[in-house]
Amino acid sequence: MNQWDMNNDIERVLYSEQDIAEAAERVGKQLAADYEGRTPIILSVLKGAVLWTVDVMRHMQYAEVEFIDVSSYNGGIASSGEVDLVTDLQTDIAGRDVIIMEDIVDTGRSLKFMIDLLMERGAKSVKTASLLDKKEGRVVEATVDYIGFDVPKAFVVGYGLDYKQLYRNLPYVGVLKREVYDPAHADVVDTVDITPEH
Ligand code: 5GP
Ligand code: MG
Ligand code: MG
Repeated sequence: MNQWDMNNDIERVLYSEQDIAEAAERVGKQLAADYEGRTPIILSVLKGAVLWTVDVMRHMQYAEVEFIDVSSYNGGIASSGEVDLVTDLQTDIAGRDVIIMEDIVDTGRSLKFMIDLLMERGAKSVKTASLLDKKEGRVVEATVDYIGFDVPKAFVVGYGLDYKQLYRNLPYVGVLKREVYDPAHADVVDTVDITPEH
């Protein structure tokens, strides 16, 4: 067994590369139909939604792409659920149809923050297409209009989603082995060190 292999850190695969390709095609074709005759702005949320964005947009027609980065502090000591704008988008969205592309919507705080921001700036419409919807985690009201998969309340990585900035380049979405994030439960001595900070 090759130790330098991210696949060994995964407990089980939830959505395969093929499952995801099918979901991207389904959502992309639906968006193409729903936005026919319009040129929406696809707003991809860094960094997790990048893979999903490029796979979905291949199935769409005329559209612009922009990026935004927000950070949320969930589960910290201050459970205020504060969300910060880290990198703003570079275009005026007043009067435009915006499609937010997310990797996962959990508490809904990041999504609500972005929807409010875009509406404040005069967007004509704002819809959301998320690879994963973790509905059980919802704390604030935030609706996902286009969903790849409804995901159970587990910590998942892959296809854009990270643990300490790693695993984003796995082609599938899976559940991380406990020993990876909880070394106390590591029963193998030679686990790969994945401790670089973000
Ligand atoms: P929110 O709680 O604001 O809806 O979600 C904010 C962010 O939490 C997501 O964009 C994502 O970065 C992170 N997140 C929530 N659930 C998961 C998960 O299961 N795996 C990973 N890797 N990140 C998650
Ligand atoms: Mg995200
Ligand atoms: Mg993350």
